[in-house]
Amino acid sequence: MKRTLVLNCPVDLCNSETAFEGLNLALRENRNFHIITINPEMIMNAQKNRGFFEILNNSDLNIPDGVGVKIALRMKGIRQNQIRGVDFSRSLLKMASEMDLRVGFLGAKEEVVIKAKENFLKKLPNLNFCYTRNGYFDSIDDIIEEIKISQPQILLVGLGSPKQEEVIVKLKEVLKGCVFVGVGGSFDVFSGYTKESPLIFQKLGLEWLYRTVLEPKRLKRIFPVLPIFIIKCIINTIVKGRKN
Ligand code: UDP
Repeated sequence: MKRTLVLNCPVDLCNSETAFEGLNLALRENRNFHIITINPEMIMNAQKNRGFFEILNNSDLNIPDGVGVKIALRMKGIRQNQIRGVDFSRSLLKMASEMDLRVGFLGAKEEVVIKAKENFLKKLPNLNFCYTRNGYFDSIDDIIEEIKISQPQILLVGLGSPKQEEVIVKLKEVLKGCVFVGVGGSFDVFSGYTKESPLIFQKLGLEWLYRTVLEPKRLKRIFPVLPIFIIKCIINTIVKGRKN
């Protein structure tokens, strides 16, 4: 699979199919596989947080999520479809149901993660849940043993970034043959507690706008990060050219 760099952070030029090839191979070989749905906030965080930069470099697949990354790739002359994290997770769970893989959900508030699980079971009654836990714990060390015992093969971790990626790094040390995906606020969407943006917003790449209108406090997170990200990408393209 082709990888490129956006502000020095690796982004994989994949589609859902090629992403699935990689994770299926890892499952067959009983290897761990860490998937990050990478967005501008993460790339900007990696500019100042060395530890997080290392995590982005050591993951197995950095799927371009968010219209910001799509624009950054376009500046490099690369046409890449945005893969929405929630859609990717849905496809992954469908595959898990068909292959009878053990699935774990870790993250969000208790009622949210339980409802997310119930909703999936309505659509995919054969989904084999081995672990479900809310994301509010003092230290991952307190729950690492229970996760290890449950032996998930697909573990969705929704604690927000960079916490979820840091937790996954720790879990990778004790689990084997597990596909880890950092899913951010996806459990809130799967549970129905957060409304998914209408298709037209998704198509126009304006999901961020829809979410910000519903949750104005997100504005603080987007600004100034998103405009600075775009400006840095423009400067990078001018200084280093499209290939860098
Ligand atoms: N969360 C959690 N534990 C924490 C902090 C956050 O489980 O200690 C959950 C929170 O309930 C929400 C998700 O992490 O479900 C963060 O969602 P956010 O919208 O910040 O993530 P994004 O989708 O923007 O990456």
